[in-house]
Amino acid sequence: MANDSFQDKTVLVTGAAGFVGSHLVDALLAQGAKVIGVDNFITGRRKNIEHLLAGQSDSGSGFSFIEADVVNPPQEYLPAGTQPDFVLHFASPASPPGYQAKPIETYLVNSLATHNLLQYLLETHPEATFLFASTSEVYGDPQVHPQPEEYWGHVNPNGVRSCYDESKRLGETICGVHHRDFGLDTRIVRIFNTYGPRINPEDGRVIPQFIKESLAQQPLSLHGDGTQTRSYCYVSDLVEGILKMATTEGLAGETINLGNPDEHSIKETAEIIHQLINPDQELRLNVIPLPKDDPTRRKPNNSKAQRLLNWTPTVTFEEGLRRTIEHFKTQE
Ligand code: NAD
Repeated sequence: MANDSFQDKTVLVTGAAGFVGSHLVDALLAQGAKVIGVDNFITGRRKNIEHLLAGQSDSGSGFSFIEADVVNPPQEYLPAGTQPDFVLHFASPASPPGYQAKPIETYLVNSLATHNLLQYLLETHPEATFLFASTSEVYGDPQVHPQPEEYWGHVNPNGVRSCYDESKRLGETICGVHHRDFGLDTRIVRIFNTYGPRINPEDGRVIPQFIKESLAQQPLSLHGDGTQTRSYCYVSDLVEGILKMATTEGLAGETINLGNPDEHSIKETAEIIHQLINPDQELRLNVIPLPKDDPTRRKPNNSKAQRLLNWTPTVTFEEGLRRTIEHFKTQE
């Protein structure tokens, strides 16, 4: 049963200035939580949390922000005596260009930061719930379709994406060890491609890239022939799933896919976005080589999330795109 209220709970959110992290903070505050957000702005943006920083000094705001690198032991950046009821570890570069530009920072934040946060809980507050933001990239270029949680994946351990894929896999291992061997309540969400307002238009992910190019009346950058597929989840659906995963009883040690199974080829994605932004114009494509180790298909098997969380995404692709496009227009 989900106790979907965070009323008066203390929640530590790492990566709070990021795309997903900032939406999580908004949702947690709306449920009455006291949120400590931590971020070092390696890929996040201050503007994602400006509305929260502005209210930080109000005693009732419930939000406090710490600019710090979460790879360091939490004792070094958290106020003494901090005992979070929940830790949502969302800090990590997430886009392929983003993590490939910062490979060491990426593997450290998914591995060493996960270890340090869990060791901190072990010492200070072992009753807390720890939720790790893993990724569909742990499935690599999957040979099973759609991907269920039991699938172990098909990952290149020494490829251009491995600083991310393999460190997320190690992060999962670290959660498993702290649950099995030390009794902590660790939980893992494997997030599939998510989009929405506040996603960084410059970070190279396909939806912001196509929206940015369409709004600028430029040809859309298509990798390869565009037959590779992705399944896109709107951010409010993802946040709802994450909060349910954190609060549903009896899920310590569990791993759950969170994504929208509505699958589209990249070419089709370009066509839909073009149609929403420039319906009277002909679609122009700028075909560029497929990046190395680019997965050919990605689609979550969501049956475990449906069964255990009673969660299923509800925002359609077109509706989510409309909201995202409107947001991008206000950012120009
Ligand atoms: P994002 O880059 O927008 O946000 C990540 C945030 O983490 C940024 O604000 C960044 O500055 C911060 N950060 C990174 N390293 C840090 C460190 N050492 N110390 C403090 N802060 C640090 O990315 P996002 O899309 O919001 O992704 C959030 C999480 O969800 C990541 O863990 C990512 O791997 C995971 N995820 C996201 C998606 C997606 O489609 N958005 C898919 C799968 C997994």
